[in-house]
Amino acid sequence: MTQRIAVLGATGSIGDSTLALLAAHATDFEVYALSGHSRLDKLFELCQRFKPKRVAVPSAAVDSFAQRLQAAKLDIDVVGGEAGIVDIAQDSQVDTVVAAIVGAAGLPSTLAAAKAGKRILLANKEALVMAGPLMMQAVKDNNATLLPIDSEHNAIFQCLPRAIQQDNSQIHQQEHGVRKLWLTASGGPFLHQSYEQMQAASVAQAVNHPNWSMGQKISIDSATMMNKGLELIEAAHLFDLPESQIEVVMHPQSIIHSMVEYSDGSVLAQLGSPDMKTPIAHALAYPERIASGVQPLDLFALAALEFTRPDLEKFVCLRLAREAMQSGLLATIALNAANEIAVAAFIDEQVKLTDIALINEQTLDNMAQQSLQSPKHIDDIIAVDQLARQLATAQIQALLA
Ligand code: NAD
Ligand code: MG
Repeated sequence: MTQRIAVLGATGSIGDSTLALLAAHATDFEVYALSGHSRLDKLFELCQRFKPKRVAVPSAAVDSFAQRLQAAKLDIDVVGGEAGIVDIAQDSQVDTVVAAIVGAAGLPSTLAAAKAGKRILLANKEALVMAGPLMMQAVKDNNATLLPIDSEHNAIFQCLPRAIQQDNSQIHQQEHGVRKLWLTASGGPFLHQSYEQMQAASVAQAVNHPNWSMGQKISIDSATMMNKGLELIEAAHLFDLPESQIEVVMHPQSIIHSMVEYSDGSVLAQLGSPDMKTPIAHALAYPERIASGVQPLDLFALAALEFTRPDLEKFVCLRLAREAMQSGLLATIALNAANEIAVAAFIDEQVKLTDIALINEQTLDNMAQQSLQSPKHIDDIIAVDQLARQLATAQIQALLA
């Protein structure tokens, strides 16, 4: 049966890889809906090419986009803003939601997809960092299926026994002998550079990832290793393990995408060329397999695979993520929010790359003094996120003063 897919964040890097796969397997998948935020010309071309039934654009662009589609004789329902994206995420015609919006902006639609019992291909790690317990509960209560496409988490998923893969309540790690998860990290463009060199880095240098081609925000997060910190939090929620059972190991080649260690000493790994089309294809077809078009891994051509311990003095954000996890949900929401503000300020050339960690740490400290309750509802989460954004913005102003 054809799977009907909504690609949220269709104009981004994950959107590109997903749509390439959907185009190559057009008989198995129908592109039912798309969303885009800024590159609306690109979104329009995607509408011409894939002829979805529905499309979501920012509220202010609904009328002009609808007129453009009409002039091109495309009969597509145009919806606007966050409410429009949420409406698509829970549309009864949609089987699968690809959650590929970047940042906190992806949370409402990802949560809506879980509440509507969809099959969710999760790229939007920030949704779990902000609302892990809520997301996992919504998946469980509504019989949704959560398939990670972040490459590390997809690798771990593939290395877990089928019984755990298919149990949304995720209570069986111990019974199945899972001792530890190993998240691999490339180290990004500054792995072999000093803290001082990182301090002087331009935006262009920071987004120039050695192994992966990705959106701007995640590329900068990779340069500071905040990305691995967010992934640590993502993994803890997805696989229901404490932070102490998840290890980060530097692996600059990005060939092993992550590993699961079992009590008998076995360590299972998933390997492949660093190309997001592999994890996305895995999740699209799960539990079957489809061709992804990814360059096969040539083991004969591989040089040595290296593994080292992360330098937490240089990559402060990774330490902050562990501390935030130990502290709880308020802290992980605050860390994510502060980081989004700090990354935006770095892109605007207001602050240095290394200031991102300083802003994040100060915001966490200031947040800890607010004596707030741990949020139970999405509105409370968004309120904490907003407060942390204000604190981070104030921090940036203090830095600039
Ligand atoms: P990107 O910047 O290339 O694309 C982001 C998408 O989100 C675009 O379609 C954009 O229009 C949309 N968007 C941005 N702001 C929005 C808003 N306020 N409201 C609605 N839509 C908005 O990002 P990406 O690299 O594709 O990453 C997307 C997500 O996937 C991120 O959470 C990232 O961490 C995760 N991820 C990406 C990769 C990768 O290789 N790119 C790998 C693993 C995980
Ligand atoms: Mg990743």
